[in-house]
Amino acid sequence: MIFPCNKCGLCCLHIDLIPQLKKYDLGNGRCINLTDDNLCAIYDKRPEICNVNKMYESMYSKQMSEEEFLRLNVEGCKEIKKAFSTGNTNI
Ligand code: SF4
Ligand code: SF4
Repeated sequence: MIFPCNKCGLCCLHIDLIPQLKKYDLGNGRCINLTDDNLCAIYDKRPEICNVNKMYESMYSKQMSEEEFLRLNVEGCKEIKKAFSTGNTNI
């Protein structure tokens, strides 16, 4: 499953909304691992909650198809963009 992330970085700029990532919060919601070019500095070892494929396998595979999980995540990205960006919901 390939998740169509366009590297907007918005999810990694608002991790104060995600309790599991509290230890990475710089104090303003920005993850300490987010680079200036919106990449994850620990991508290969990123937390499970940041990894769509691992989250599906460990928590959602018995509840829905991969396609449905992907669709819900894409919808989540659109909601983040609506809430925090200039309105570009393309993904
Ligand atoms: S909000 Fe969605 S598109 Fe933007 S960086 Fe996060 S996962 Fe990627
Ligand atoms: S660990 Fe990486 S993917 Fe997860 S919020 Fe931080 S920068 Fe984003």
